[in-house]
Amino acid sequence: MRYAVISDVHSNLEALTAFLTKADRAGYDRIVCLGDIVGYNANPNECIELLREREALCVMGNHDSRAAGLEDESAFNFHAALAIQWTRGALKEENREFLGNLPRALQVNRKFLAVHGWVNDTDLYILGPRDAAENFKLMKDARTRVCFFGHTHVPAVFTEVEGGAELVDGEQVRLLKGASYLINPGSIGQPRDRDPRLSFVIYDTKKSQVKYYRVEYDISATAGKILAAGLPDRLAERLKLGW
Ligand code: ZN
Repeated sequence: MRYAVISDVHSNLEALTAFLTKADRAGYDRIVCLGDIVGYNANPNECIELLREREALCVMGNHDSRAAGLEDESAFNFHAALAIQWTRGALKEENREFLGNLPRALQVNRKFLAVHGWVNDTDLYILGPRDAAENFKLMKDARTRVCFFGHTHVPAVFTEVEGGAELVDGEQVRLLKGASYLINPGSIGQPRDRDPRLSFVIYDTKKSQVKYYRVEYDISATAGKILAAGLPDRLAERLKLGW
């Protein structure tokens, strides 16, 4: 199976569409989305509907749970909270229900686990090796060696080493038998590694290989929609910076 694994779409329709074009060309069997379909940008309904059309396997992100009204946005920064309030007003009822019913974690085809933040917490960030080491322990409890996560909007692959975890470099990573991995595909809708191009991976389970893709999309169109919707200017600016 070839899984196109994406995360943090954040209502960015232009980026999601550019991803689909690229993924269709590259070839895949199933899309796995690691949460935060909505928030920040201006096309929440369209992004949810496109992913549903493609029968993507989705988990719930921290923005999705707030947009669905399961939790309030008091822990969010000012701009994120404004965008959530806007999103709640814009969401169709069926799409709000879809977000509210997403699982927090998904064991995909017994091959790998899909989560948004930490293995056991949607809101926590896996930022570095210390966080990764804690999550490798949680993965052992879940009896899984491969886990995909998002939330930081920064592409990263961690592997477990004696007493901890370390980063694995490369646009293409071969997953070794018996080793454990935590893999972040980066973000579709709001990349934060100072590269404004959208980011995703294709995980080929037969080859045990993860390949990263970076793709340009029409940022000025997305930015224009943010301003037209009355969302904060800063949310448009940061897309151009990839931050
Ligand atoms: Zn996010």
